[in-house]
Parts: sequence; structure tokens; C-alpha cells
Amino acid sequence: MDERIVILGAGHAGGAAAIAVRELGFTGKINLIGEEPDAPYERPTLSKEFLSGADAEPVWLADDARWRDLNVQLTLGVSGIAIDRESRSVTLSDGSSVSYDRLILATGGRVRRLDAPDHPRIHHLRTADDARALAKAATPGARAVIVGGGVIGLETASTLVELGLTATVLEAGDRLLGRNIPEEAAGWLAAAHARIGVDVRLDRSVRAIEHRADGLKIRLDDGETLDADLMVVGIGIIPCAELAEASGLPTAGGVLVDSTYRSLGDERIFAIGDLAARTWGDGPTPRRMETWAHAQTSARAAALAILGLPAEPEPAPWFWTAQCGHMLQIVGDPGAGDTVIARGDGVRLYVRDAILVGAVCLDQAREFGTARRLIGKALAVDRAGDPTLDLRKAAA
Ligand code: ADP
Repeated sequence: MDERIVILGAGHAGGAAAIAVRELGFTGKINLIGEEPDAPYERPTLSKEFLSGADAEPVWLADDARWRDLNVQLTLGVSGIAIDRESRSVTLSDGSSVSYDRLILATGGRVRRLDAPDHPRIHHLRTADDARALAKAATPGARAVIVGGGVIGLETASTLVELGLTATVLEAGDRLLGRNIPEEAAGWLAAAHARIGVDVRLDRSVRAIEHRADGLKIRLDDGETLDADLMVVGIGIIPCAELAEASGLPTAGGVLVDSTYRSLGDERIFAIGDLAARTWGDGPTPRRMETWAHAQTSARAAALAILGLPAEPEPAPWFWTAQCGHMLQIVGDPGAGDTVIARGDGVRLYVRDAILVGAVCLDQAREFGTARRLIGKALAVDRAGDPTLDLRKAAA
């Protein structure tokens, strides 16, 4: 097997794919090419332990010695600029090109920006370098305005308060965490933010930003102005699908793939992680999944398919967020439920036709572990709602 696998994008998904194909027995060449200067790392700590300084380093997928042992050729600080599917090669930003037998696209997404010019006081949080820059600016007593009340915005607000800053969160929607967390659980986190003094403003957006020598003056849509030493914009990502699109691969808000993460337009090309758009068994509309777990599972699924190995059963999608000293974990698709079962404080089970389709747990890791295993199983609703009974006993 002297085939060559080229992986474009050396983030969590790209790095995990390189490790997976090698560990599954691939003996050919592996080129892992990424535009960031850092070797592959996991992103969740960037808004938490790495930002706060509790962790001095990002969570690396592997150290230098391990990359050498795995015989993965890492090329960092270089991006792909064109894919030629006919000659099966990728042109790189350093002027070179690399040919492939299989190409894995793991280019993820770039941050969405406000319609405002860049400024050193305006931060985003996607990469380790972004976190380093924000950590440097986050001096105790500084006033931070965070735009976006999603996971990134709220985790960042929590960490900045922990570092001694004040934090105001501006959310355009009428509630926090509207993209991926059920309303009741989002309310638990909103209350936690109120307790640590975060000033959350809903239905608010930025009208104008004035740069002064001593800070930013931020004018809101209702006319109010806020003074800030720094701003963090956390309003989601835009998938980096341009290369795939320009090469004629089918895309729809991400690179369209099947459940093995193979492109719908080219059997030699795969797309994984935040970039991949696919259907999930709940309908015909392809969706992307921006989670740590999906970076991991999509990388493994693609590696298996590339090596011609059988697919593994897919775990129900899950993710977590840690903020204000709390850990919220979500599994499955709570939005698909027709009934909510309150199982004491901090556990909500979502069932449809008496089948468990989703769960949300606040600071209840053990309950979460059980709920994860019961997704897709029938639940006796009355027993599941009794927190004194083992949840496993409620499964039919
Ligand atoms: P992330 O993963 O970056 O946190 P999410 O999509 O989960 O992304 O959350 C982004 C949040 O930002 C959403 O709650 C969305 O309503 C909010 N938002 C989007 N655009 C704006 C904006 N211009 N001003 C304020 N909030 C915004």
C-alpha cells in the first residue's frame, strides 16, 4: 500500500483522521496540511482552561515524537488553494502541490464577523492564537463586551469574569443558546451568569463601534452606548467550503457527504468535522455538526471507509459546555421530543412516542452517561421521572 492520503486542515478532525488511518493499519504516506501554526489540538479548552491560564498549553492530539512515530508528515502554516480532481492534486499556498489517492477535507470553519473593520481590541475565539491574544488583553478590571450569547460567547464571559474582568453579553435573539440548547436548560445557565454578575442583554445588537484612545464606545441598536476595553465576537462560524465548491464538489452550507463522510460528488474525497454536511436519519435536510465528539467520530468513520473496513454503529450526537462552574451535557435531539420528563433538578429527558430521543443534564455526569446509553430505547415515563429510581430501571 504505497497510496497517499492528503488531509487538508490540521485541526481536531484532521489530526484525528491522520491518527485513525494509521492506527487502523494504513501503511502509505499521510500528509497533514494545516494553515494554523500549531499542530492539531482540541478546541474546547480555548474558551476555558487555556484562556484562563489554568492550562499553559492547548490539548494537543499528539506530541512531536508521536507524530514522528505515526509517520505523519505535518505541514503547518500552509493552506490549500485549489483542488484539481482530474490530476488528483492540491495546490498549496507555498507554491508547491501534493498529489493524493484519497483526500480528506477537514478545513472546518472561520469565525463570522460583525460588519465592522478589524481592530486590536476586537477579538474572536476560534484558534489557539485567538485565545492567546485574548488572554493577553484580559487584564483584571477590564471591561469586556461579548457579542453573541451562544456557547463560545457565554463560556468566554464566564472565564473573563473568573479572570477579574466585567462582562456584558449582547445577544441578538430573544434567549441565550438558541442554536443548540433547549430553552429550560439555557435558563439554568442564564441564572448562573446572573449569579456571577454577567450583564446579559437580549434582543440587542451592535449599531456602531467607535475607537477611542482609551477603549471602545459601542453603540447598540436601542441607542445606548457601552464603554469597553475589549470586545469578543462569538456569533458562529462559516464553513470553509470554498475549495470544495470551486472544484465542483456538491456543497450546501458545508461539503455534502454520506454517512461514511465520503463526498457525494467524488469517491476519492471525504469531508469531516465542522465542514461536513449530511443527513442524520431525522429527515432529508443535511446539517453540519460543530462538536468535539463529531470531529472524533467523523474522522474515524472516514478512516474506516478509506481502508474498506466496516462502519461502526454511530453513537447519538452529544456535546457539553462548561461555564460559571457548571457542566451542561446534551445528547440526542431534545427538539425532537413530544414530551419532557423532569427527573429532579438538572435532568430533563425528551421522549417521542415513549422513546428517549434526547437528554440534558446539569452537573449530573452519571445520569448523563446512563441517558446516553438509553437513547433510542423505550422509557416508562412515570418511573423515569422519579430521580430516586435508577434510570436504567425505567428502560423497557
Ligand atoms: P458559537 O458556537 O460561536 O457560540 P452559536 O451559533 O452557538 O455560535 O451562537 C452564536 C449566538 O450569537 C447565537 O445565539 C446568535 O443568536 C447570536 N448572534 C448572531 N449574530 C449576532 C449579532 N450580530 N449580534 C448579537 N448576537 C448575534
